[in-house]
Amino acid sequence: MKISIASDHGGVDVKALLVRALGECATVLDKGPFDRSSCDYPDYAASVALDVASGAVDFGILICRSGIGMSMCANRYQNVRAALCATTEAATATRQHNGANVLCMGADVISPEYALEIAKTFIATPVDESERHARRREKLERAGRLSDVSGLLRDDPEVFATIKAQTEQEDTEINLIASENTSSRACREAAGSVLMNKYAEGYPAKRWYSGCGPVDAAEELARKRACELFGADHANVQPHCGSAANMAVYFATIKPGDTILALSLDQGGHLTHGSPVNFSGKFYNIVPYTVDRSTEMLDYDAIEKLALEVKPKILLTGASAYPRKIDFRRVREICDKAGCLMMVDMAHIAGLVAGGQHESPVPYADFVTTTTHKTLRGPRGGLVLCKEKYAKALDSAVFPGMQGGPLENIIAAKAVCFREAMQPEFKDYAAQLVRNCAVLCKTIQDRGYRIVSGGTDNHLFLVDVKSHGMTGKDAAAALDASGIVVNKNTIPYDTESPFKTSGIRIGTASVTTRGMKEPEMIKIGTWIADVLDNIADTTVQERVKREAKALVANFPVP
Ligand SMILES: *Cc1c(COP(=O)(O)O)cnc(C)c1O
Repeated sequence: MKISIASDHGGVDVKALLVRALGECATVLDKGPFDRSSCDYPDYAASVALDVASGAVDFGILICRSGIGMSMCANRYQNVRAALCATTEAATATRQHNGANVLCMGADVISPEYALEIAKTFIATPVDESERHARRREKLERAGRLSDVSGLLRDDPEVFATIKAQTEQEDTEINLIASENTSSRACREAAGSVLMNKYAEGYPAKRWYSGCGPVDAAEELARKRACELFGADHANVQPHCGSAANMAVYFATIKPGDTILALSLDQGGHLTHGSPVNFSGKFYNIVPYTVDRSTEMLDYDAIEKLALEVKPKILLTGASAYPRKIDFRRVREICDKAGCLMMVDMAHIAGLVAGGQHESPVPYADFVTTTTHKTLRGPRGGLVLCKEKYAKALDSAVFPGMQGGPLENIIAAKAVCFREAMQPEFKDYAAQLVRNCAVLCKTIQDRGYRIVSGGTDNHLFLVDVKSHGMTGKDAAAALDASGIVVNKNTIPYDTESPFKTSGIRIGTASVTTRGMKEPEMIKIGTWIADVLDNIADTTVQERVKREAKALVANFPVP
């Protein structure tokens, strides 16, 4: 057992006694002070609180005259639960119920001998793991979701209100938006950090500004981890979003007017794959390929035929609304035959690739682009991976080609995300994500709704609601009123406008991150079918909203 201990000048003698006595049964780190000259208690509280927050020690002990200032300080740190105790009973209770990990005591309140008794009681008492105490501890931690930003309550209440509203929305709704996820607290902490203050045009060790040591280290971590996670030669972690990642590859490789072969937007492609209202459609000659009309899946023979015909510079695969696996080996074959670059936009499936659920496109493709915020579960941002021979061209396309200073706070959050994605739990998440999607899809299918392509291999699927006489717009609105958030989406060969659509897109990333499994998917699928079966019935919507809210309450946001 490891204990970190400190005091202020008022607690030096009690501390000395505790260090000696506890040293017989534990490793004790004495963080000072070592004499009675006047000092500032927050400095010593910080030292112990950081030891506990980092997990470097099992317990912290802090002593000042009353113990109050020390406990106030320590409780400002994440993962610290500091308790001010004046009796052994209080020490027992706070260990059992609150899982306290820092003990604060007042040197003027109790005798040194009794302080030792309290400390011994504290470290010997296990946490009560029963459901009700665990639930309350969970709530105690979650209070931090808003307390993270509670400074805004005074400094900018209007902005605080928006964050509060988003927090409440996440806490009460079932989020099935296929492109969204719920990022970790660690990720949010990095994203909200002081790294945002730094200008760092250029790349690590080759910057246009001085003072880039810390951000160089953050960006190096992100680049290294991205390469390790995906087995890539080179990574550029600076693109502000997935669209910028795609732009960077185009800028690095082709000229305006050159031909790109890509899946059309209304069949599941992305805006940046050549939509006429997007830069990609304006700058380049986009030839769209489509899915097969009957299977609603990619037809590689047809793509090959088209590629040999139009001789594109880039063959782009990857999609925003394609529920099936993509055969990257086959795509590579086509690119080799047609003599074009292979680019894969894995924005949606990056988490499935990282988690081992989908084959990685990285060994096959010249360039792989992705967002970091979809199934990969990081901050909102972009990433490009490429073979070594393209590294220089890619980096100059991003900077100075199209962006100025990188968002180093977001890059640090990407580094956090890549590390999380390398942990064994991420593999479990990716596997559960795909299982959840299959179960949710089947539940809705069994209620008679047509699923595009007949099913799903990944984290999303498309429901053809037109087959039940409604538009995607109306279906999404009815579900929204029921506390279930999805988006309207065109389906292949859609006859409705993109504003109405014939489909809805459903994804399971966020609910999986929150810990839901197959039984919850069956419940949610049943609710979706109930609402859609009775699209105009607001009593059904109200019932589902109530039940949905009760369900999500059991799956708190991390
Ligand atoms: C989401 C997405 C993008 C772009 O992401 P932004 O970060 O919104 O720019 C690019 N490609 C595909 C396939 C996507 O699904």
